[in-house]
Amino acid sequence: MPDTGKTVQSQTSLRDASHLPDAEEVKAFMDEAIREAINGMEEGGIPIGSVLVRKGKIIGRGHNRRIQFGDPTAHAEIDCLRAAGRLRSYKDTILISTLMPCAMCAGATVQFGIPIVIAGENRTFASSSEFMQVNGVHIVDLNLDECYEMLAQFAKEHPSLWSEDIGVEPSYEPQ
Ligand SMILES: [Zn+2]
Repeated sequence: MPDTGKTVQSQTSLRDASHLPDAEEVKAFMDEAIREAINGMEEGGIPIGSVLVRKGKIIGRGHNRRIQFGDPTAHAEIDCLRAAGRLRSYKDTILISTLMPCAMCAGATVQFGIPIVIAGENRTFASSSEFMQVNGVHIVDLNLDECYEMLAQFAKEHPSLWSEDIGVEPSYEPQ
């Protein structure tokens, strides 16, 4: 291949994860994401919740409303980003979600340049953590039983709703 003389800047170098909060703050934010998930469940929806944080403050929050809105793209992370509204930059934000983002939500994370994602668990669904990491997103998986059990229980009780959410055939069941 001819040398074009161009250098490709690594995506990784574009993301700064130095604003990673301490464990106590992470827990407080995750508790709010869990609260959102519970809100969603109480509405008859899928219990996944998210918050978007900037400078130690929640600037957007949301939960999965696919059933409530009849909208296949209304995942918790998307609902949360919509609630936060337009931002000039996401470089100092953190997306905190009870479940590791799926391909669609990971795509939004990479697209907007969110540098840090903190997930409650990554077990109910083989999600897109690798895709985000390859694109320079700093990933924290808290692996919380609380998040796992909430969603696994829902998936067991409503297998077809859960399958529809993640776009797999209805026979799928979480491990
Ligand atoms: Zn998603």
